[in-house]
Amino acid sequence: MKKILIAIDGHSSCGKSTMAKELAKTLHYRYIDSGAMYRAVTLYCLEKGFFNDDTLNIEAIKQSIGDIHISFELNEKTGNSDTYLNGENVEKPIRSMEVADKVSPVAAVGFIREAMVKQQQAMGKDKGIVMDGRDIGTVVFPDAELKLFVTARPEVRAQRRLDELIAKGETVSFDEVLKNIEKRDLIDSTRKDGPLRKAPDAVVLDNSDMTIAEQNAFLLRLLEEMIKNRRRRQFIPAPIASSQ
Ligand code: C5P
Repeated sequence: MKKILIAIDGHSSCGKSTMAKELAKTLHYRYIDSGAMYRAVTLYCLEKGFFNDDTLNIEAIKQSIGDIHISFELNEKTGNSDTYLNGENVEKPIRSMEVADKVSPVAAVGFIREAMVKQQQAMGKDKGIVMDGRDIGTVVFPDAELKLFVTARPEVRAQRRLDELIAKGETVSFDEVLKNIEKRDLIDSTRKDGPLRKAPDAVVLDNSDMTIAEQNAFLLRLLEEMIKNRRRRQFIPAPIASSQ
Protein backbone atom coordinates (compact mmCIF):
# COMPACT_ATOMS: atom_id res chain seq x y z
CA MET A 1 0.00 0.00 0.00
CA LYS A 2 1.14 3.56 -0.73
CA LYS A 3 2.87 5.13 2.27
CA ILE A 4 1.04 7.86 4.14
CA LEU A 5 1.75 10.52 6.77
CA ILE A 6 0.27 10.09 10.23
CA ALA A 7 0.06 13.16 12.49
CA ILE A 8 -0.61 12.74 16.21
CA ASP A 9 -1.19 15.90 18.22
CA GLY A 10 -2.46 16.49 21.71
CA HIS A 11 -1.83 17.62 25.26
CA SER A 12 1.35 16.93 27.23
CA SER A 13 1.81 13.44 28.70
CA CYS A 14 -1.27 11.81 27.22
CA GLY A 15 0.60 8.88 25.72
CA LYS A 16 1.03 10.26 22.20
CA SER A 17 4.52 8.85 21.84
CA THR A 18 3.57 5.34 23.05
CA MET A 19 0.77 5.37 20.51
CA ALA A 20 2.91 6.79 17.71
CA LYS A 21 5.68 4.22 18.34
CA GLU A 22 3.16 1.39 18.31
CA LEU A 23 1.61 2.58 15.04
CA ALA A 24 5.03 3.04 13.44
CA LYS A 25 6.03 -0.48 14.46
CA THR A 26 2.80 -2.00 13.09
CA LEU A 27 3.15 -0.21 9.76
CA HIS A 28 6.97 -0.42 9.51
CA TYR A 29 7.08 3.38 9.42
CA ARG A 30 9.57 5.77 10.98
CA TYR A 31 8.55 7.43 14.24
CA ILE A 32 9.56 11.07 14.82
CA ASP A 33 9.16 12.67 18.24
CA SER A 34 8.91 16.39 17.40
CA GLY A 35 8.75 17.31 21.12
CA ALA A 36 12.25 15.84 21.52
CA MET A 37 13.49 18.46 19.04
CA TYR A 38 12.12 21.36 21.13
CA ARG A 39 13.50 19.66 24.24
CA ALA A 40 16.95 19.41 22.59
CA VAL A 41 16.91 23.14 21.73
CA THR A 42 15.96 23.84 25.36
CA LEU A 43 18.84 21.70 26.63
CA TYR A 44 21.19 23.62 24.32
CA CYS A 45 19.93 26.94 25.79
CA LEU A 46 20.40 25.65 29.34
CA GLU A 47 23.92 24.36 28.62
CA LYS A 48 24.94 27.63 26.96
CA GLY A 49 23.54 29.69 29.86
CA PHE A 50 20.89 31.40 27.71
CA PHE A 51 18.41 31.40 30.62
CA ASN A 52 18.35 33.95 33.37
CA ASP A 53 15.91 32.24 35.77
CA ASP A 54 12.85 31.87 33.54
CA THR A 55 13.88 34.49 30.99
CA LEU A 56 15.36 33.28 27.72
CA ASN A 57 17.99 35.42 26.00
CA ILE A 58 16.28 35.60 22.60
CA GLU A 59 19.18 37.39 20.87
CA ALA A 60 21.66 34.71 21.99
CA ILE A 61 19.54 31.84 20.68
CA LYS A 62 18.87 33.73 17.46
CA GLN A 63 22.64 33.89 16.83
CA SER A 64 23.01 30.15 17.54
CA ILE A 65 19.96 28.59 15.92
CA GLY A 66 21.95 27.74 12.76
CA ASP A 67 24.44 25.76 14.90
CA ILE A 68 21.80 23.45 16.36
CA HIS A 69 21.55 20.13 14.54
CA ILE A 70 19.11 17.53 15.75
CA SER A 71 18.92 13.99 14.48
CA PHE A 72 17.49 10.62 15.50
CA GLU A 73 19.33 7.32 15.54
CA LEU A 74 18.12 3.83 16.29
CA ASN A 75 19.24 2.51 19.68
CA GLU A 76 19.86 -1.20 19.06
CA LYS A 77 19.44 -1.99 22.77
CA THR A 78 16.01 -0.39 23.30
CA GLY A 79 14.71 -0.66 19.73
CA ASN A 80 13.70 3.03 19.93
CA SER A 81 15.31 5.99 18.26
CA ASP A 82 17.43 8.29 20.42
CA THR A 83 17.72 12.05 20.03
CA TYR A 84 21.12 13.55 19.14
CA LEU A 85 22.07 17.19 19.61
CA ASN A 86 25.07 18.15 17.48
CA GLY A 87 26.19 14.52 17.41
CA GLU A 88 25.74 13.85 21.14
CA ASN A 89 23.12 11.44 22.50
CA VAL A 90 20.83 13.60 24.67
CA GLU A 91 17.92 11.18 25.05
CA LYS A 92 18.21 11.10 28.86
CA PRO A 93 18.84 14.78 29.76
CA ILE A 94 16.05 16.07 27.50
CA ARG A 95 13.51 14.10 29.59
CA SER A 96 14.45 15.81 32.88
CA MET A 97 12.06 18.04 34.86
CA GLU A 98 14.47 20.95 34.34
CA VAL A 99 14.03 20.73 30.56
CA ALA A 100 10.27 20.06 30.86
CA ASP A 101 9.99 23.24 32.92
CA LYS A 102 11.68 25.44 30.31
CA VAL A 103 10.61 23.85 27.02
CA SER A 104 7.26 25.57 26.39
CA PRO A 105 8.63 29.14 26.41
CA VAL A 106 11.40 27.99 24.03
CA ALA A 107 8.85 26.29 21.74
CA ALA A 108 6.79 29.49 21.64
CA VAL A 109 9.56 31.46 19.89
CA GLY A 110 8.62 31.97 16.23
CA PHE A 111 12.06 31.56 14.59
CA ILE A 112 12.76 28.41 16.65
CA ARG A 113 9.48 26.88 15.46
CA GLU A 114 10.24 27.87 11.87
CA ALA A 115 13.60 26.07 12.00
CA MET A 116 12.11 22.92 13.58
CA VAL A 117 9.11 22.79 11.22
CA LYS A 118 11.46 22.97 8.22
CA GLN A 119 13.49 19.99 9.53
CA GLN A 120 10.29 18.04 10.30
CA GLN A 121 8.86 18.63 6.83
CA ALA A 122 12.13 17.43 5.27
CA MET A 123 11.92 14.22 7.36
CA GLY A 124 8.41 13.57 6.01
CA LYS A 125 9.03 14.23 2.34
CA ASP A 126 9.02 10.51 1.41
CA LYS A 127 6.05 9.78 3.72
CA GLY A 128 5.97 6.57 5.79
CA ILE A 129 6.22 8.66 8.96
CA VAL A 130 4.34 8.82 12.23
CA MET A 131 5.09 12.15 13.90
CA ASP A 132 3.70 13.36 17.22
CA GLY A 133 3.60 16.86 18.67
CA ARG A 134 1.31 19.86 18.95
CA ASP A 135 1.13 21.33 15.43
CA ILE A 136 1.78 18.33 13.19
CA GLY A 137 -1.71 18.05 11.69
CA THR A 138 -2.22 21.82 11.51
CA VAL A 139 1.17 23.29 10.46
CA VAL A 140 3.82 20.64 9.69
CA PHE A 141 1.70 18.21 7.64
CA PRO A 142 -1.72 19.80 7.03
CA ASP A 143 -2.25 17.23 4.25
CA ALA A 144 -1.49 14.19 6.42
CA GLU A 145 -3.74 11.29 5.45
CA LEU A 146 -4.46 10.37 9.09
CA LYS A 147 -4.67 12.86 11.95
CA LEU A 148 -5.30 12.09 15.59
CA PHE A 149 -5.89 14.49 18.45
CA VAL A 150 -5.18 12.82 21.79
CA THR A 151 -6.13 14.03 25.22
CA ALA A 152 -6.78 12.84 28.79
CA ARG A 153 -7.74 14.46 32.09
CA PRO A 154 -4.80 16.48 33.56
CA GLU A 155 -4.70 14.40 36.81
CA VAL A 156 -4.52 11.16 34.83
CA ARG A 157 -1.69 12.56 32.69
CA ALA A 158 0.19 13.82 35.77
CA GLN A 159 0.01 10.39 37.45
CA ARG A 160 1.31 8.63 34.32
CA ARG A 161 4.17 11.12 33.97
CA LEU A 162 5.02 10.87 37.68
CA ASP A 163 5.25 7.07 37.42
CA GLU A 164 7.63 7.43 34.45
CA LEU A 165 9.85 9.97 36.22
CA ILE A 166 10.01 7.94 39.42
CA ALA A 167 10.93 4.85 37.40
CA LYS A 168 13.82 6.89 35.94
CA GLY A 169 15.00 7.83 39.44
CA GLU A 170 13.83 11.49 39.55
CA THR A 171 12.52 12.84 42.85
CA VAL A 172 9.38 14.84 42.09
CA SER A 173 5.94 15.25 43.60
CA PHE A 174 2.52 14.76 41.98
CA ASP A 175 1.73 18.49 42.42
CA GLU A 176 4.97 19.54 40.75
CA VAL A 177 4.24 17.33 37.73
CA LEU A 178 0.58 18.44 37.53
CA LYS A 179 1.60 22.11 37.67
CA ASN A 180 4.17 21.58 34.91
CA ILE A 181 1.60 19.84 32.68
CA GLU A 182 -1.01 22.58 33.21
CA LYS A 183 1.56 25.30 32.55
CA ARG A 184 2.74 23.64 29.33
CA ASP A 185 -0.86 23.10 28.13
CA LEU A 186 -1.62 26.78 28.68
CA ILE A 187 1.52 28.09 26.92
CA ASP A 188 1.19 25.54 24.08
CA SER A 189 -2.44 26.36 23.34
CA THR A 190 -2.26 30.16 23.66
CA ARG A 191 0.97 30.93 21.77
CA LYS A 192 0.81 32.83 18.48
CA ASP A 193 2.87 30.45 16.32
CA GLY A 194 1.73 26.85 15.84
CA PRO A 195 -0.60 26.71 18.84
CA LEU A 196 -1.92 23.36 20.02
CA ARG A 197 -5.20 22.95 18.13
CA LYS A 198 -7.25 20.07 16.86
CA ALA A 199 -7.16 20.02 13.05
CA PRO A 200 -10.74 20.07 11.71
CA ASP A 201 -10.23 16.63 10.12
CA ALA A 202 -8.53 15.00 13.14
CA VAL A 203 -10.05 12.04 15.01
CA VAL A 204 -10.28 12.79 18.76
CA LEU A 205 -9.17 10.20 21.27
CA ASP A 206 -9.62 10.74 25.03
CA ASN A 207 -7.70 7.89 26.63
CA SER A 208 -8.28 8.85 30.31
CA ASP A 209 -10.06 5.58 31.00
CA MET A 210 -8.38 3.35 28.42
CA THR A 211 -5.71 0.72 28.86
CA ILE A 212 -2.86 0.51 26.33
CA ALA A 213 -4.50 -2.63 24.90
CA GLU A 214 -7.83 -0.83 24.45
CA GLN A 215 -6.05 2.07 22.81
CA ASN A 216 -4.21 -0.24 20.43
CA ALA A 217 -7.50 -1.92 19.50
CA PHE A 218 -9.01 1.53 18.80
CA LEU A 219 -6.06 2.43 16.55
CA LEU A 220 -6.26 -0.85 14.69
CA ARG A 221 -9.98 -0.31 13.99
CA LEU A 222 -9.24 3.21 12.81
CA LEU A 223 -6.54 1.99 10.42
CA GLU A 224 -8.77 -0.77 9.05
CA GLU A 225 -11.56 1.77 8.52
CA MET A 226 -9.17 4.10 6.72
CA ILE A 227 -7.86 1.36 4.43
CA LYS A 228 -11.46 0.33 3.60
CA ASN A 229 -12.42 3.93 2.81
CA ARG A 230 -9.35 4.46 0.62
CA ARG A 231 -10.21 1.30 -1.33
CA ARG A 232 -13.81 2.48 -1.69
CA ARG A 233 -12.65 5.90 -2.89
CA GLN A 234 -10.49 4.25 -5.52
CA PHE A 235 -13.40 2.27 -6.94
CA ILE A 236 -16.34 4.69 -6.68
CA PRO A 237 -16.19 7.40 -9.35
CA ALA A 238 -16.57 10.96 -8.09
CA PRO A 239 -20.07 12.40 -8.66
CA ILE A 240 -20.43 14.43 -11.86
CA ALA A 241 -21.17 18.07 -11.07
CA SER A 242 -24.60 19.23 -12.20
CA SER A 243 -24.56 21.94 -14.87
CA GLN A 244 -27.83 23.60 -13.72
O1 C5P B 1 5.81 16.07 23.39
P1 C5P B 1 6.62 16.64 24.54
O2 C5P B 1 5.83 16.84 25.78
O3 C5P B 1 7.90 15.94 24.77
O4 C5P B 1 7.01 18.10 24.02
C1 C5P B 1 7.73 19.00 24.82
C2 C5P B 1 7.27 20.40 24.55
O5 C5P B 1 7.67 20.79 23.23
C3 C5P B 1 5.78 20.66 24.63
O6 C5P B 1 5.35 20.99 25.93
C4 C5P B 1 5.60 21.84 23.69
O7 C5P B 1 5.84 23.05 24.37
C5 C5P B 1 6.71 21.67 22.67
N1 C5P B 1 6.25 21.10 21.39
C6 C5P B 1 5.75 21.99 20.46
N2 C5P B 1 5.43 21.54 19.21
C7 C5P B 1 5.57 20.26 18.89
C8 C5P B 1 6.04 19.34 19.85
C9 C5P B 1 6.36 19.80 21.10
O8 C5P B 1 5.62 23.16 20.73
N3 C5P B 1 5.27 19.86 17.66
